[in-house]
Amino acid sequence: MNQPVRTRPESSRQSLNEAYDTALLDLDGVVYAGGEAIDHAVESLVTARDAGMRLAYVTNNALRTPEAVAEHLTRLGMPATPDDVITSAQAVARLISEQLPKGARVLVIGGEGLRVALRERGLTPVDSADDDPAAVAQGYGGPDMPWARLMEAGYAVARGVPWFASNLDLTIPSGRGIAPGNGAAVEVVRIVAGTSPQAAGKPLPPMHRETILRTGARRPLVVGDRLDTDIEGAYAGGVDSLLVLTGVTTPAQLLAAEPGHRPAYVDRDLRGLLTPQPEVAHDGESGGFRCGGWAARVENGALVLEGGGEEPLDGLRALCAAAWSEAGDGVSGADAGKALARLGL
Ligand SMILES: [Mg+2]
Repeated sequence: MNQPVRTRPESSRQSLNEAYDTALLDLDGVVYAGGEAIDHAVESLVTARDAGMRLAYVTNNALRTPEAVAEHLTRLGMPATPDDVITSAQAVARLISEQLPKGARVLVIGGEGLRVALRERGLTPVDSADDDPAAVAQGYGGPDMPWARLMEAGYAVARGVPWFASNLDLTIPSGRGIAPGNGAAVEVVRIVAGTSPQAAGKPLPPMHRETILRTGARRPLVVGDRLDTDIEGAYAGGVDSLLVLTGVTTPAQLLAAEPGHRPAYVDRDLRGLLTPQPEVAHDGESGGFRCGGWAARVENGALVLEGGGEEPLDGLRALCAAAWSEAGDGVSGADAGKALARLGL
């Protein structure tokens, strides 16, 4: 889908939870980090839901079942049912089921979440390349997945068995740093097999389609912390997105975002769901942009921020407009260091 190039954040007179019927929420870096709830997440989500917004949790993690994710959320104080959770395992299982007859054998390289999702689509999980599989499904298997599983995948894929991956995230966050994700395991199999899998997870269309099919959302808002999965997936699906700064994306990365990575809205955390979004206005005189009490423009290759206001986020919104407008369908190379230091974000 060809989307227009966004050159500034959007405004919304209504609070976002009123303007959109369903929030499609990423989990890590948005709702929780390292297993613990992120500040203000629980209260904000409970308030949004009580006011009528549907909440759906959308994760590329294929290891955990929707039941396990819902239990985790409920434990953190956000009551959720398995139906509120959409995983890349479900998306890849649908993709496979559309290409194979019912009951087809699928070699599972991954965890329980993938097995359950395959069975849900009427497919038969098997464990060996010698079980005559009609497909290979590869998802994150957790820290204890034996190397032998990757060997099975390699044998089958090298023989020409169609290969599917839940997602291609090369890395995953862990409490102790960055760890290899399913995309890294896919690379291992690729070295042996010399081909590429069909993949389902964010930012690819099968995941977005799975989410819309399962939620029935008519006016969804994607809420995420990663530009190259959450925001790109929303952009590709033609729906609006809210970037929260509680995860992996820094304000500097946001300013340098390529067109397909520019969110409709940016806010500090999930409290942004409950508020209107201010207008970012073009300032004819300076050629820059204003938001709140802030004014931003690009001058001599650097972002310049003037004025001031109670809300540093408004300064960031004005900076986004200045940087994105100048970059057009490219990437802004304007030096943002001084301007961002003023905001203290
Ligand atoms: Mg995330």
